[in-house]
Amino acid sequence: MKKEDIIAIQQLLATPKKIAVIPHRSPDGDAMGSTLALYHFLLKLNQQPVVIAPNDFPNFLAWLPGSESVLIYENEKEKCTAVLQESEMIFLLDFNALHRTGEMEHVLSKLTAPMVMIDHHQKPDGFATYTYSDTSFGSTCEMIYNFIGYLGQKDLIDQTIATCIYTGIVTDSGSFRFPSTTGTTHRIVAELIDKGINNSEIHNLLFDNNSYNRLLLMGRALQNMKVFPEYKTSYITLTQKELDEFHYEKGDTEGIVNYGLTIKGIHFAAIFIEHKDENIIKISFRSQGNFDVNQFARDHFNGGGHINAAGGKSYENMKETVKKFETLLSQITI
Ligand code: 5GP
Ligand code: MN
Repeated sequence: MKKEDIIAIQQLLATPKKIAVIPHRSPDGDAMGSTLALYHFLLKLNQQPVVIAPNDFPNFLAWLPGSESVLIYENEKEKCTAVLQESEMIFLLDFNALHRTGEMEHVLSKLTAPMVMIDHHQKPDGFATYTYSDTSFGSTCEMIYNFIGYLGQKDLIDQTIATCIYTGIVTDSGSFRFPSTTGTTHRIVAELIDKGINNSEIHNLLFDNNSYNRLLLMGRALQNMKVFPEYKTSYITLTQKELDEFHYEKGDTEGIVNYGLTIKGIHFAAIFIEHKDENIIKISFRSQGNFDVNQFARDHFNGGGHINAAGGKSYENMKETVKKFETLLSQITI
């Protein structure tokens, strides 16, 4: 992070302010972990922070300390708009472009308060006044840990803040197995454990939290999987009808895409999930090795993300979408 940006942010935080902290739409563990970590940190600085998520967060994150105070823009548009317009400073966490906040973009783009973007995705849009962007980090939560250090306030990290930071690190690193997991990741985690986090309990809260219906939905997803050994690729589909059959709740499809990669010899996996309410097919892409799914999602499916994990969407129906995907497979090298 640039020295002059750190000084400018220190000066802004020297006096109490109303501060809005914003994750991306459909927030994941890193988005919620980083916004809530910063929220608790700002409280300790005697600031007046509020986390405003563009839409609801999944149930498996509802135990995070402070999650009960999070405002949901799409549920309370007028109230959230008023809070945003009154904010004297804005933090944008775990996303690289304003459109990742969905409808909230229209409110955010008109605000004049100074904005700080902290993110590990490629190609930040440069919208914020201060941008701390570094794609070498596996999670925004690691960057929040550094950010607090840059401000000279590491001593303020307590068990609550550490719990939020750990949540983002463990979820975005696939429990420390993705290549973005570094020695620094483990050194940060060592310090978080020393701050008193219960890493084993956090893991249980995050991952041993299934409903029976979710397991059945997962079973259906696995049965729907198509495998193309010649293209080292597999994909899964889930229609709205199938989601309804298993009483889908937000978060139920989280992580299912990764099962495709667990097949020997498969290096590229996708999941296509029909969302009838938004008239889109939401897509997740994962890869192992050099195949750049961020580029693939940008080029063909209105999306983006990281080299080995990205997402996108299709406005065509399921049949047309998977047909397009299958056609593309013969044109790429994995
Ligand atoms: P997931 O597949 O878990 O939703 O997302 C994987 C990664 O890709 C995450 O870092 C996420 O932020 C990013 N991502 C997911 N969907 C989109 C999208 O539609 N556009 C962009 N630019 N990034 C996405
Ligand atoms: Mn992230």
